Amino acid sequence: TCALPIWKNTQMISVPEAIDIVKKEVGASVAERVPISEAAGRILSEDILADSDLPPFNRSQMDGFAMRHDDDSESLRIIGESVAGRGFDGKVAPGTAVRIMTGARVPEGADAVQKVESTEESDGIVTMLEAPEAGQNIVKSGEEVRKGHRVMTRGEIIGDNAIATLASFGYSTVEVGARPKVSILSTGSEIVSISETPAKDQIRNSNSELLRALVSRTGGEVSIRPHADDDLEQLKSAISDALVDGPDILIITGGVSVGDYDFTKPALRELGAEIFFEKVSLKPGKPTVFARLGETLIFGLPGNPVSVAVTFHLFVRTAILAMQGAIECGLREGFAVASKDFKGAKERDCYLPVSLGSDFQGHLVIEAQRFGGSSNFIAFSKADALLFIPKGGRLEQDGIGRIYFLR
Ligand code: AMP
Ligand code: MG
Repeated sequence: TCALPIWKNTQMISVPEAIDIVKKEVGASVAERVPISEAAGRILSEDILADSDLPPFNRSQMDGFAMRHDDDSESLRIIGESVAGRGFDGKVAPGTAVRIMTGARVPEGADAVQKVESTEESDGIVTMLEAPEAGQNIVKSGEEVRKGHRVMTRGEIIGDNAIATLASFGYSTVEVGARPKVSILSTGSEIVSISETPAKDQIRNSNSELLRALVSRTGGEVSIRPHADDDLEQLKSAISDALVDGPDILIITGGVSVGDYDFTKPALRELGAEIFFEKVSLKPGKPTVFARLGETLIFGLPGNPVSVAVTFHLFVRTAILAMQGAIECGLREGFAVASKDFKGAKERDCYLPVSLGSDFQGHLVIEAQRFGGSSNFIAFSKADALLFIPKGGRLEQDGIGRIYFLR
């Protein structure tokens, strides 16, 4: 049965359709609690609430003097000081001021802080060089955030900059989506490990390490399987072995096209996998296959490193993020101006790796194609985005193209 050209029997579907299928097949995420030190890059499984007003007291934004803004005394008597962590507990009456530092509590009675540069001081007396306005240099209690307010939402990614938010509200641990277990299986009789010097007809395995990096960045826990040659029986056992410890996702690279030694699809079919799609209107990446065997979702990606990267970003990334409960699983979309003509393909939608810059008018500009054919991974590594060109179309110089950001 492996000789049957299975792929001819199925429809070519669009990239958005394929992405929808991937999302539909991903089950509910499993939450786990992790220390804040491990939270960056993970997906929130709980809302983050402010457990206090911020700031918790009226806070001075300057080093200077706390006073009454409408005090018309010529000079003010300094009655104490308010330091960060040790505020002044007395009251500021007319004719007096309190020396205050940045971050310190503004004492009762005061409604303005004049910065030290705008004052003159001698013998415990301070004179204003200019009168402050009401509320000047004071951040009012609760002005930034009110206690109980939701500051982050379940399903959001915890970016590096959000760690301060978690820390400020006492989240020493946080509920996040568990990391999907992702196994990576490279195939191809020409492939040798990166520590080897390739003989004639051989090339090094760049896909497995590329995928390790991409999967880890997306939150997956990587396991690299022993490599399989282009041999149907060997490939079937390699796939079966890879499924023994029940990974959430298995990524296979290579052997998905229609060559005589492309066995990924026949192997999946013979093992009884349910195949959701196996032909996408996509360049690069048309023969991408998506299937399920047991509990494991399987992606068969074309072997070229550029195709691997593009199909990872479009499909596998979506699955890994959705498995962690992410609300936004797709690449961020945008628009940019073409600095030159970009050609599409006759029969498939193109997602061309491109690099971006900006011009003097402040426009985002598509500068160069990072894609001299699907094996040009050196150029691809400098790509910032994928440029969408619908089948049969082209993007002319100065036209506006739809892009998907890679970083
Ligand atoms: P295939 O998808 O098997 O037709 O492979 C397409 C191209 O990708 C061929 O030039 C392969 O040699 C190359 N290729 C396949 N697997 C890998 C790999 N793991 N690392 C680098 N290149 C690969
Ligand atoms: Mg091959």
